[in-house]
Amino acid sequence: MLVDNHHRTINYLRLAVTDRCNLRCNYCMPSEGINFAKNDKLLTIEELSRLASILVAQGIDKIRITGGEPFVRKDLMVLLRRLVKLQGLHEISVTTNATLIGPHIQELKQLGIQNINVSLDAINRDTFERITRRDQYDTVHENMLRLITEGFNVRINFIALEGQNTQDILPMLELTKHFDVAVRFLEEMPFNGGSRSFDHIAWDYKRILSYIKETYPEYDQLESPSTSTSINYKIPGFKGTFGVIPSFSRTFCGTCNRLRVSATGDVITCLYGKPKMNIRDILRGENSEEKVREHIRSVIGSRARTGFEAQQENIGVFKSSMTSIGG
Ligand code: SF4
Repeated sequence: MLVDNHHRTINYLRLAVTDRCNLRCNYCMPSEGINFAKNDKLLTIEELSRLASILVAQGIDKIRITGGEPFVRKDLMVLLRRLVKLQGLHEISVTTNATLIGPHIQELKQLGIQNINVSLDAINRDTFERITRRDQYDTVHENMLRLITEGFNVRINFIALEGQNTQDILPMLELTKHFDVAVRFLEEMPFNGGSRSFDHIAWDYKRILSYIKETYPEYDQLESPSTSTSINYKIPGFKGTFGVIPSFSRTFCGTCNRLRVSATGDVITCLYGKPKMNIRDILRGENSEEKVREHIRSVIGSRARTGFEAQQENIGVFKSSMTSIGG
């Protein structure tokens, strides 16, 4: 079992498989893209599955595949086919922008990968195209509805971006009236939003909730697992649920159970902190299994208590895009 220096059990790995993305969301990347990692710097599918297997043997029982956009990686399904065979891994989930998932929906279903998070900051076509700078609205919409109607456990992650998409909050919420889907509104973060501020954001979770309350005065809070980052609600009579994720306010660090590995092998113990080490060359070297285990234990043994503490490492220098950090 992996336990950090604040007695938190770490059982959840967010594993990025690429830093590339086929959208160009204006808060995440410039229109020309960023300097994506060279192929030899990316962990191979074989390395990703070996790393996953070592970490699962150490106590990770939940893996979320992130990017960039995971499905731009052509061999992603090869990795997923291997992960489903790992003994002790109870849950595999994928975060996607839903542009490229269409051809893989049937196989995901066959593999039993049910949990799909769709990152979608707009329900209106113009808002979508303005934010993503791409003409993919129809594809995303169609894939999202297909995933919902095929019975996947779909969660839509919507970042409330001041001046960009807050007019879409209520129409997005209305999806939950007709469909069994969870819509979650995230606060923007300094490295994944427009504000770039570490001090203040315009739409924190309290404002999102009170804005929703103006139209839907009655909603019930739902029970959530203690490690959940979202506070979840249901409007009476609606099929789905909605939630808020205080990703800037960071109210949930006390139960944080997460470890991140970027597509190039950076090991990140807090979203707001710098990478603690890079595991790629260790994986490529001799006695890799034993050395990976040791290094992972060591970085988990020196985690920041909260995102606020971790951010001290980054004040004034935070330039990483979420596409490099890994979602
Ligand atoms: S901010 Fe850091 S410590 Fe807090 S929940 Fe996120 S990753 Fe964990």
